[in-house]
Amino acid sequence: MSENTVNQTLGEMPESAILARIFPRLPSSDATIVGPGDDCAVMQAPDGRFVVTTDMMVHGPDFRLEWSTPHQLGIKAAATNLSDVAAMGAKPTGMVVSIAAPKDTEVTFLEQIADGFHDACLELAPGCGVVGGDLSVSNTLTISVTAFGDLEGRQPLLRSGARPGDVVAVTGRLGLAGLGLAALFAGEKDTTNPLLLSAQLSPWPPISQGVAGALGGATSAMDISDSLIMDAGRIAGASGVVIVLDESALDDLAAHLAIECGVDASHARQAILYGGEDHALLMTFPADVALPPGFTALGHVVACADDETPHVNMGEGVLPENGWNPYTGWNGEIS
Ligand SMILES: [Mg+2]
Repeated sequence: MSENTVNQTLGEMPESAILARIFPRLPSSDATIVGPGDDCAVMQAPDGRFVVTTDMMVHGPDFRLEWSTPHQLGIKAAATNLSDVAAMGAKPTGMVVSIAAPKDTEVTFLEQIADGFHDACLELAPGCGVVGGDLSVSNTLTISVTAFGDLEGRQPLLRSGARPGDVVAVTGRLGLAGLGLAALFAGEKDTTNPLLLSAQLSPWPPISQGVAGALGGATSAMDISDSLIMDAGRIAGASGVVIVLDESALDDLAAHLAIECGVDASHARQAILYGGEDHALLMTFPADVALPPGFTALGHVVACADDETPHVNMGEGVLPENGWNPYTGWNGEIS
């Protein structure tokens, strides 16, 4: 293949030739009966049900090419969708991926996105793969993913299942991605701890812990995409309960994060409470159940008093629901 061919842009090639370059790089799904190449893929659904979710990343509000490599974009697009499947207690089985890109985009750019999907699936959700998708042209690079998962005979983990007396627990990291985003906004990419940048640009959530939590008796779950407080508030609201976070557990997490990343403890604490995009899994478990390995207790669930509405608190009273809003961006400062 000549150098000229390698650097061809999307607008210079027939779609079939682009797909012929991308398909071999994509991860394959163990649940595939008929893979890419027909009008639809055909997938197994042995449970008789499947979970499905979709998440779109748009250049500008969701990522910036001056910050992210195409490989990182592939990882992030895969990881955020796999995380939603995990948050239902399901095992990811497949994804369909649609990308709209400017016609002067080099095909190698899409190949590197495909490599990101490959690496994320291989490590985070073995057996899950890309079973189809679509390409289109747009001046705004957009990556849209729909992911599927298998409940393997279990009940789905819903946000509405938390009960008074349950323990609130988390698995995965909190605060890293928020600190990474704050550093990027501050123009400090070159001097920031790489751990923070990779947490923001190519998150690596604990996907297999979704099934582990379900098997361990979780009563509710969601992945923390917008902020711990905002997402805990969603479980509280859906379940009609109050979530009480344990101040000393938060202090321990903040102290660890501060030392690990070289930030002060109050900064770390704000990132843990109000930063998003770490895609840690937040779950509730009955108090008499041992937490599965890798889960840390963060608080507990209590019933709403007569005049009380569902909310999240921690010693100092109701916590503001700061975090990510897709139309207004971040509200609440973490830096
Ligand atoms: Mg989610």
